[in-house]
Amino acid sequence: MRGAKVYFFLYEKIFLCKILRNILYKIFLIFARMLINQISKLKKAKNAIILAHYYTLPEVQDIADFVGDSLVLSKQAAVTQADIILFAGVHFMAETAKILSPQKKILIPDLNAGCSLADSCPAEELEKFLKNYPEHKVLSYINCSAKVKTLSDIIVTSGNALKIVNALPKDEKIVFTPDRNLGAYINKETGREMALWNGACHVHDQLTAEEIYKLKATYPKAKVLAHPECKATVLEVADFIGSTAAMLQFTKNDDAIAYIVATETGILYEMQKQNPTKQFYVVNNPITCSCNNCEYMKLNTLEKIYNALQTESPEIILEDELIKKAVYPIQKMFDY
Ligand code: SF4
Repeated sequence: MRGAKVYFFLYEKIFLCKILRNILYKIFLIFARMLINQISKLKKAKNAIILAHYYTLPEVQDIADFVGDSLVLSKQAAVTQADIILFAGVHFMAETAKILSPQKKILIPDLNAGCSLADSCPAEELEKFLKNYPEHKVLSYINCSAKVKTLSDIIVTSGNALKIVNALPKDEKIVFTPDRNLGAYINKETGREMALWNGACHVHDQLTAEEIYKLKATYPKAKVLAHPECKATVLEVADFIGSTAAMLQFTKNDDAIAYIVATETGILYEMQKQNPTKQFYVVNNPITCSCNNCEYMKLNTLEKIYNALQTESPEIILEDELIKKAVYPIQKMFDY
């Protein structure tokens, strides 16, 4: 009798929780719809576009004019006719948009949306490091600050790094910054011996092969996709290595029915949208045992996007001299 009472008590609580959760979700949807309406009115009135990275929240990707990885978004920033670009991504991406479109107003929803990889390479320290390599070309992954770009000869993305390195003369001496994992991967694939800056992205660097093996044990038929910002031990167990856009393309062309994805969680939204019948499993962060989210990317919310468009701030401001120097290595990238 006592057991039955406890059962009904718990059942009631859980049932109420479910009702409460559903009510809260419906309220959230009403607010989200109102915000989305306001955002599209502001976009029209101010001739603004929204560029969103694949790692942002699903509702942010849904309202963007373009969703993509760093390469696609930087190309969009360079050609858009809009007066305002709102960059739902992280700080270095909004800076890159400003460098490519200096006459436009570039907004970022939250100035705290930084990047651990870009932060792992302070320009002053890189400048000292480069004194050891006076005859080297400096190739920098686009995930770096505007100042680091001014110290670079060519900017690359994870989508074009191999192509650009392969196009350089075989005897070209190269320093690669800031990602040691991507640099090591390029060295392995091209047979080069680029000197590497010792930086990393905390989101990709903390993924482990052990976590992938655990998922493989449960989903043995799933193919493993990995971003080259992951450690070599993770890349070794991958069936496909590529940028976020390349991974997405792979899932569309490939005939597997399930994938284990070693990168930031946000890309799963687009993967699932484009492949509704396939299954996707993200590799968990082994430290927190939770999804592998980039907390900086998730700072981009509908509310902050609305506020940024409404107030036209925070705005990315860069000195003209910095822009002039930083644009050169980015344009070099577009030449390849
Ligand atoms: S996922 Fe890593 S590289 Fe990408 S923005 Fe976040 S911290 Fe930077």
